[in-house]
Amino acid sequence: MKLLIGKEEIPSVTGREADVVSPASGKVVWKVALGNEEDFEKAARTAAEAAPIWNAVPLYRRIEIIYRFVSILRERSEEIVEAMVSEGGKAINEARAEVDCAGNVFCGFAEAARNAFGNTMPLNADPRTENDILLTIRDPLGVVAAVLPFNFPVELFAHKVAPALLMGNAVLVKPATYTPRSAYLMVKMLLEAGVTPGAINYVTGSGREFGLWMSKTNLVDAVSFTGSTAVGVELMQNGARSLRRTYLELGGNDPFVVFADCDLDLAVAEASGGRLWNAGQTCCACKRFIVDNKIRKEFTEKLVRAVTEASMGDPALETTVVGPLVSEKEAKNAEKQIEEVISAGGRLLCGGHRKGAFIEPTVIDNITPEMAVANDMEIFAPVFPIIGFDTFEEAVAISNQTSYGLAAAVISENMKTALRFADRVKAGMCVINGSGNYRSMQQPFGGYKHSGIGREGTADTLKEFSQQKAVILKKVLDR
Ligand code: NAP
Ligand code: MG
Repeated sequence: MKLLIGKEEIPSVTGREADVVSPASGKVVWKVALGNEEDFEKAARTAAEAAPIWNAVPLYRRIEIIYRFVSILRERSEEIVEAMVSEGGKAINEARAEVDCAGNVFCGFAEAARNAFGNTMPLNADPRTENDILLTIRDPLGVVAAVLPFNFPVELFAHKVAPALLMGNAVLVKPATYTPRSAYLMVKMLLEAGVTPGAINYVTGSGREFGLWMSKTNLVDAVSFTGSTAVGVELMQNGARSLRRTYLELGGNDPFVVFADCDLDLAVAEASGGRLWNAGQTCCACKRFIVDNKIRKEFTEKLVRAVTEASMGDPALETTVVGPLVSEKEAKNAEKQIEEVISAGGRLLCGGHRKGAFIEPTVIDNITPEMAVANDMEIFAPVFPIIGFDTFEEAVAISNQTSYGLAAAVISENMKTALRFADRVKAGMCVINGSGNYRSMQQPFGGYKHSGIGREGTADTLKEFSQQKAVILKKVLDR
C-alpha cells in the first residue's frame, strides 16, 4: 500500500516500506509505505485545504455519500474481511461481524448528524438578554487525525472517520503498521463514494515517526487515538502546545466479578466468550476474574473445560474460535507475562504455551490482590487470572485498585447486589450478567482514569468533533 494523499497514491518520500506479515502463516502478505514527517505534513496540508471545500458540501449530500460508501462496503465486504484475516489473524467470523458493524456505525452517525440540533436560550431569562434571541450552530474543527490500533481496525475506523466527515472535517487516517490494508480499502471506497479528495487521506509509517511529527505540526486540530496508555499520554503532551483536542481510548484491565448467587453457566459462558474474542486482544474485555471463594473451584473447573474446548487454529476457517495474536512478537510478550504471573505464585490450570503467534487459552488461579496482574499488568492474549474474594467490599476494592477503568462486568442473580456494584465500580461501563466486551454504537464508550478521555458513540462523537458557536439576534423581540 502506498500513501493516499488527495487524489494521489504515492510512495513515501524516502521510498521505504515495511513487510506486512500474516501471523497465522508467518508469510509476508504485502508491503506498506513507511511515511516520514514530510509525508505527514504534506497530507495534513492537503487535508487543511480540502476541509472547507468538504464542509461546503451540504450535510444532506455528505449523508448521501456516506450511505453510498456503506453500500460499496457491503458489496465488497469480503475484500476487507480477507485483509483482516491475512494481516491481523482475526478469526473470519469475527472479521465479518466487524465489517458489518462498521457499516451500521456509519449509518448510525449519518442519522445522528441529520438530527444534531442546536440550542436556543430561554427568552428574556435575565435583564441583560432582554428581547434577544440566541441560537447555537456547530462548526467543524478542521483536520482530525484518526490513529487506529491493530485490534479493531475496521470498527474503530468507523467510530472515528464517520463522525469526523459528517461534521465537515477533513481526516488523516493512520492505521497500525501491523494492519494497514483494511483502512486502505475503506479510504479508497470513501473516495469512490464521492468524498472530496483531500478530505480523507491515508498515511502509514511507524507510530514513533508519526508521534514525532504530531509534536511539531500545527496543522492537526484534533486527534482521536485508540491504543496504549503510554502513547496516549505522549499524544496529549504533544498536542498541548497547539491546544489540539485530544480524545483517547486506551487500555484496560477490567474486573469480571462473579458473586456466589450467580447463574454459573452464564458466568462461564460470558467469561470465556468475552475474553477469547479476538484471541484476547480486546481493550474492553474483562481481564481479571474476581470470583467469590464459595464458588471459585466450581467456576474455574467449568471455565477450564470451556476454554480448552474452544477450537484454536487457522483464522480463515469458520470453525476457528481462537486465532493467533497479531504477531509472533506480541505472542512472545504475552508468553513472558504468563511466566511472570506463574513465578509470582499463580497456579497454571490450563494452557500457557505459545506456538508461533498462537497463545493457548490459559487459566491461572491463586492470584492475590498485590500481584501485578491483579493491578496494572494488562495481558493482550487469551489469559484468565482468577482472584478470590470473600465479601462485597473486597470485590469492589480489588476491582478498583487498578489505574485502568474501561468496562467492568458483574454476574449475580440479585439485581440489588449487581446495581450496588455497578454504582461503586470506577469504569466507563459496567455490564450486568454479561462480559465487559460489549459495545453498542449509541453508548458513551470510553474510560475512567488511565483508560482514556472522551466518549465515543453516536450520542457523543459528533459533539467532540465539532465546536459550538453562539449567534445572537440582539433586541429583535418587543415584549
Ligand atoms: P499502540 O502501540 O499505542 O498503537 C496504536 C496506534 O498508535 C498505532 O497506529 C501505532 O502505530 C500508533 N503509535 C505508536 N506509537 C505512537 C506514538 N509514539 N505516537 C503516535 N502514534 C503512535 O497500541 P497497541 O499496543 O497496538 O494496542 C493495544 C492497546 O490499545 C491496548 O492497551 C488496548 O487495551 C488498547 N485499546 C483500547 C481500545 C479502546 O477503545 N479503549 C480499543 C482497542 C485497543 P504503529 O502500529 O506504527 O506502532
Ligand atoms: Mg505498540
